[in-house]
Amino acid sequence: MATEATILVVEDDASLRRSLEMTLKAAGYAAVGAGTLGEARRMRAHYKPQAILLDLGLPDGDGLAFIDAVRSYDLTPIVVLTARDAEALKVRALDAGADDYVTKPFGLEELLARLRAALRHGVQAAGSVPVVHTGPLEIDLGARVVRRGGREVELSPKEFEILAVLASRIGKVVRHQDLLKAVWGSERADIQYLRVYIGQLRAKLEEHPSRPALLVSDPGVGYRLFASAQ
Ligand code: CA
Repeated sequence: MATEATILVVEDDASLRRSLEMTLKAAGYAAVGAGTLGEARRMRAHYKPQAILLDLGLPDGDGLAFIDAVRSYDLTPIVVLTARDAEALKVRALDAGADDYVTKPFGLEELLARLRAALRHGVQAAGSVPVVHTGPLEIDLGARVVRRGGREVELSPKEFEILAVLASRIGKVVRHQDLLKAVWGSERADIQYLRVYIGQLRAKLEEHPSRPALLVSDPGVGYRLFASAQ
């Protein structure tokens, strides 16, 4: 791998979290840790990890909700860390979109093997990410390139992320708070940020930015990327 993959470790047991982080770093990964669900959301938005190790029992909520939140935006591989005798929970985690699980107490070699497999699946999944077309726009989610009428448009990373979330759910309204959570890691981030960035995106992508035909507002709810008939 050209650059080291970043792994987000979500685990409220601080000593286990630290030992996982050390193991990952020794194995050549970059590791970042979170001890709560809220922290995990912020770290995911900030670091854009290539994979997530996730404990399900967290002090501020259920890890299953985090799987749901991640899966509504992307295919980042998730390996769940579960207790023995938690079969029902494992099934629910897999149903929610986790890629795999390891049972505590687990061997570190086993964990690393599962993680490597999950990362391979993640790369394959990312390779099959569609190129989204609508009107004059072509949004290549894998290569992070946007073209308008065949010409590449320069977007800032945040502008691209907002557009990517909308493109991955093209035609569907994405709620303000879901966009804020996906891009800034917190639904308490200011909706005003969104207005500013949507305004910038319209200026770059719309033929008539004041009468947007592509980045459409659903007032009081969210935004959607218009899906033109192919
Ligand atoms: Ca726990």
